[in-house]
Amino acid sequence: MLKIKDLISGYPGSFMLDRINVAISKGAFAGIIGPNGSGKTTLFKTITGDLKLKSGKILLDEKDTSLMSSRERAKKMAIVTQTIDAADVPVDDYVLMGRLPYKKPFQLLDKKEDIEIAKKYMQLTGVDKYKHKLMNRLSGGEQQMAAIARALAQEPELLLLDEPTSHLDISHQVQILNLLQQLNEELGLTILMIIHDLNLAGEYCNNLVMLNKGRVHISGSPDEVLNYKDIEEVYKTVVITQKNPLSGKPAIFLVSGKTLGNV
Ligand code: ADP
Repeated sequence: MLKIKDLISGYPGSFMLDRINVAISKGAFAGIIGPNGSGKTTLFKTITGDLKLKSGKILLDEKDTSLMSSRERAKKMAIVTQTIDAADVPVDDYVLMGRLPYKKPFQLLDKKEDIEIAKKYMQLTGVDKYKHKLMNRLSGGEQQMAAIARALAQEPELLLLDEPTSHLDISHQVQILNLLQQLNEELGLTILMIIHDLNLAGEYCNNLVMLNKGRVHISGSPDEVLNYKDIEEVYKTVVITQKNPLSGKPAIFLVSGKTLGNV
């Protein structure tokens, strides 16, 4: 679905991603992890086209994204950023904006079909309950859900999310990730997200890419990637890795300096 080949991009004189190679297959639920400053956002911005690549290629369904129009790209790939443009717009209008790539030039009125599609995804995400509220009056979790509904209204094949659970409490984190898992499994939507929380990454993703200093340190299944050696090397932090007793997925424990001193 998404192939990143020998990618070099970033901020010359400051920080550069160094020959990134990543392949995300159709139907994957993939996560990009790595410490602060490792290049996650830089990679995300390069994939979304916000940042120009210096060399290498990004292929979406075998097509070079640099040769695709923004409209064509938006039909294949939808983006949910961390900061949501929460203006004075009612939620239903905000979600309907997801249909913009499908509007004909100079088409003023929304088609019935587009309104139905926006409605479908508002129901699926539960945002229809507050569809008449203004975006900037919603809580962080509600805004995030509305942004996901808008992205889904684009009917993309790939959904890219930049830390969809940051700033949310555990109940909203699980709610958002359960929804993404459902979309991935039931609609076959391919998902790639930046995620800080290694435990959530291990529990939900089936493919992880760990970045370190602008390079891919390790990629693979959560069991392969979330091992204490690689985590300690990249994050410079002592961790204990075990398995979640219920899901069998990797679980990571942090240990205080005081406890470590007593060992
Ligand atoms: P992460 O998302 O993993 O925390 P980023 O991709 O945001 O990492 O940042 C990687 C590096 O790029 C950091 O050292 C950061 O200071 C630098 N950086 C980010 N944005 C800019 C910019 N606009 N100009 C110059 N350097 C930047």
